[in-house]
Amino acid sequence: MSRLIIVSNRVAPISEGGMAAGGLAVGVYDALRETGGMWFGWSGEVASAAPASPKIEERGPVTFATVSLTRRDYDQYYRGFSNDTLWPTFHYRSDLTHYDRHEFDGYQRVNAWLAHQLIPLLRPDDVIWVHDYHLIPFAEALRQEGITNRIGFFLHIPFPASQVLVTVPPHDKLMRALCCYDLVGVQTEPDLRALRDYLEHEAHGTVSADGRVDAYGRSLRIGAYPIGIYPDELAALAKEGQDGRHLKNLRQTMHERRLIVSVDRLDYSKGLVERFRAFEKLLEISPNHRAQVSFIQVAPPTRSDIQSYQQIRLQLEAESGRINGRFAEMDWTPIRYLHRQYERAVLASLFREAHVGYVTPLRDGMNLVAKEYVAAQDPEDPGVLVLSRFAGAAQELDGALIVNPIDVQGMAEALDHALGMPLDERRARHARMMTVLRRNSVSVWRDSFLRDLRAVRQ
Ligand code: ADP
Repeated sequence: MSRLIIVSNRVAPISEGGMAAGGLAVGVYDALRETGGMWFGWSGEVASAAPASPKIEERGPVTFATVSLTRRDYDQYYRGFSNDTLWPTFHYRSDLTHYDRHEFDGYQRVNAWLAHQLIPLLRPDDVIWVHDYHLIPFAEALRQEGITNRIGFFLHIPFPASQVLVTVPPHDKLMRALCCYDLVGVQTEPDLRALRDYLEHEAHGTVSADGRVDAYGRSLRIGAYPIGIYPDELAALAKEGQDGRHLKNLRQTMHERRLIVSVDRLDYSKGLVERFRAFEKLLEISPNHRAQVSFIQVAPPTRSDIQSYQQIRLQLEAESGRINGRFAEMDWTPIRYLHRQYERAVLASLFREAHVGYVTPLRDGMNLVAKEYVAAQDPEDPGVLVLSRFAGAAQELDGALIVNPIDVQGMAEALDHALGMPLDERRARHARMMTVLRRNSVSVWRDSFLRDLRAVRQ
């Protein structure tokens, strides 16, 4: 079988034992190990000068090829256009979007430069799979250099409605570039409908019912490929961690109280402020939960050099302080707000311990935490998932209590419902969701995307 080349903004740090940090990284790494291949992308380092060629590291059948970025490249391509223009717009936060033409030029320049770095490493029959919004123009840059390999693209974040996408000034250039791929995958059917709508009504292309596209003089395919996790491995990890130090300490301080847990990067797309207010509302409307329920929010800071991320951090610190000040008692802190990373095993066991998984992003491509929470539960006595309808995961996890994260009162009522749900209903909902998680695992996601990519132009 032809070699697989994965291209992503960051190459996941893979430990010596071969385990990567997150589910996606593990899923992709497995595919590389099976067929042999290469993972190419940014090392995460910012250096004073661009390297002449990628740093190559071989680990068994997998080659890691990484490059550093200059400060200017980082500012324009990564911090600027990717994370201060595309990320907010694609998450429907046009109000937070900044646009600077120089940053867009830098985004295109870095994509072209990255493509040049990869070209000498390519073989004619390699299959190339590019990931996420940082790299939309990557295939166009390869095509301009005469590369004819099969190239697929997967967008991990939402694909926005046309009328939102057109607020990005160079939307036409982006979408022309997107059509240089052979296969474009998005997370959900609503994302696919939005992409189709743009291609038909803005690009004046045609899209067939089975996803064949003709637009901008190119032919490609589009499809929805919901990303998953390894549910059974996560369940095993969650079980193992039950006797660990972190969980023992937690139980000692909980005194049999009920536990609500949220885990997110500290990002304005995650709906954290609304979530805190809904927990406050729960304590307000159902005083029986006071001193009986604690809410742990784990949220390590990310992208802290962008102003909107500094603002959300300040806002949340103010909200948690205010709510705790209002309701806390000598021996009970309503919200425990933890600003740090944890090992996967610790998070998994925390999920298992929690009576409610509280996952309420304003927008999210998929949200793997929702899936991890479900997989981590004890099937005999599972917790309840409260899930935003605007997370991609809500398309699959119909055993969750689905909420609108704007509706603070509605979320408080859902929390109350979750905390009081009888065991047989919890079991039935959990079993339904586990069936979906096993059916749509990360290997199914990866294999179906790669099968469709290998089948194009055959
Ligand atoms: P996003 O990709 O927007 O961050 P997802 O929920 O899809 O959101 O994926 C986040 C991943 O990162 C999950 O696998 C989750 O377990 C992990 N994660 C989130 N917060 C932490 C944390 N504090 N420590 C370690 N891992 C985390």
